[in-house]
Amino acid sequence: MTFRYGRRTALSGVTWEVPRGVTGLLGPNGAGKTTLLNLLVGLTKPSSGEIVFSGGGRESAVGFVPQQYSTAGEMRVLDTVAYAAWINGVARKECIAAAERALAEVELGNRAGDRVRSLSGGQRQRLGIAAALAHRPQLVVLDEPTSGLDPGQRLRAREVISAIGARYTVVLSTHLIEDIAHVCERVAVLAQGRMAFDGTVDELTALVEDTEGAGSLGSAFERAYESLINTLGGARD
Ligand code: ATP
Repeated sequence: MTFRYGRRTALSGVTWEVPRGVTGLLGPNGAGKTTLLNLLVGLTKPSSGEIVFSGGGRESAVGFVPQQYSTAGEMRVLDTVAYAAWINGVARKECIAAAERALAEVELGNRAGDRVRSLSGGQRQRLGIAAALAHRPQLVVLDEPTSGLDPGQRLRAREVISAIGARYTVVLSTHLIEDIAHVCERVAVLAQGRMAFDGTVDELTALVEDTEGAGSLGSAFERAYESLINTLGGARD
């Protein structure tokens, strides 16, 4: 795909195949991550090229969790997710069952009857994920899912996202290298509108010789990512 804002090319000939499991999307500021997410979610259309879902059409194919998931605090947790299911085309009679299943998938089944406003920040983020899963989308898109969470909540969110990756195809955009290292099997790196890397986390880590980073800060994965970005001449996030 290629995407242009007027004369400005934001994505240039990007080819990307996303398999089941959790795939991380990384890239310096301005690399085109938001543009790519908007295209995946269907908010915008590519200037050229296309997005193909292996199961066919794009109707209800995507579940999107924005960076700041917010919803009515007065609503009960179960109703919030059931409503999301209905909005996304689940038959009226099946919405409650779909919501119960999705809440169990994010480990919020025990809060189904509570009001949304009683949830912690981390629980609300998981509620957002449940709302995105309720119609069993072919693709789940998570935008910075752990930003704004405290370390304990972040750990919990990562566990839930990893578990979801066993059943869904998940794209996780993040600035946190740690999220990628802990949650993703695969990682794609955008730089200056091009796909600079697409492979497994181990493959990216292997790009740096172990000796090169001995004594320096950060994980081997972090050093590999930084060296890739530096090679490409882009600024780091
Ligand atoms: P960040 O991490 O800062 O959010 P990003 O990787 O999400 O960056 P995008 O927001 O997709 O990057 O932007 C990609 C390129 O397109 C940048 O050069 C940006 O300046 C440009 N761009 C983004 N939105 C618009 C717009 N509405 N009009 C014109 N140019 C835009």
